[in-house]
Amino acid sequence: MTGLEVRGLTISLGGPPIVDRVDLTAPRGKITGLVGPNGAGKSTLIGTVVGLNRPVEGTVHFSGDDLLGLDRRARARLCAYVEQAATTEERLTVAEVVALGRIPFAPAWASGPDPADEKSCMEALSRLGMSAFAGRQFATLSGGEQQRVHMARALAQQPQLLLLDEPTSSLDIRGQLQVFALLRSLATEDCTVLMALHDLNLALTRCDWLVVMNHGRVVAEGAPMEVLTERLIADVYGVEARRIQGPVGPVIVFETAL
Ligand code: ADP
Ligand code: MG
Repeated sequence: MTGLEVRGLTISLGGPPIVDRVDLTAPRGKITGLVGPNGAGKSTLIGTVVGLNRPVEGTVHFSGDDLLGLDRRARARLCAYVEQAATTEERLTVAEVVALGRIPFAPAWASGPDPADEKSCMEALSRLGMSAFAGRQFATLSGGEQQRVHMARALAQQPQLLLLDEPTSSLDIRGQLQVFALLRSLATEDCTVLMALHDLNLALTRCDWLVVMNHGRVVAEGAPMEVLTERLIADVYGVEARRIQGPVGPVIVFETAL
């Protein structure tokens, strides 16, 4: 069992390092949560793993492959990315946005739509509960609906590694739980999931592994119950919190900003 392995990753976007000598593992077939305050470097780190920026130093491997050494197409056949503030796809229908996920698989000589691609797109929309929206203009959807379509596009890529940047930020509570159920079924199908998220209760109860970042560094990594202690929440977020045993499991209750 390997998964995603980041070693010694330093990223600078012109100034001092934004991500500084980061080591982390996202175990294969598991859901790994990437948490940390605003500005900690989560989006920058994820963006580099998917090839949006080049690091100053460090390596990124996925199940033995050097991700940073692959060309864009080869990387996109392994790894899908759902960005934080998804760009509005002007004048595309939902079905066309999802079909973008199949581009890395299209042979150069393709003359028309491939039935296998269409099947993959339809399945992806269905898994997000968005089939009825296939013909709608993407730009007319609500934020939460757009987030689901972007996730469907990523699923249409049939990735072995799925990176998501706050994918539930525009979703209502039912939508959030549905996304976690979907990520769980993907993980069961051997997909490796790494997601940035803010909700520490979801991180505690729905992730298998957590990485905590602060000021561009990894400050903790491990099993959620071991990592998300009251002490760590105070140190990293400056918030006094209590972890209590609720009727169905542990719950973090936030008391006050320190
Ligand atoms: P997070 O996703 O954890 O909230 P980000 O990775 O978006 O954090 O940002 C980390 C830090 O890097 C922030 O201080 C942000 O202002 C800075 N930053 C992000 N993108 C750029 C950029 N293109 N140029 C300079 N600084 C950036
Ligand atoms: Mg971010």
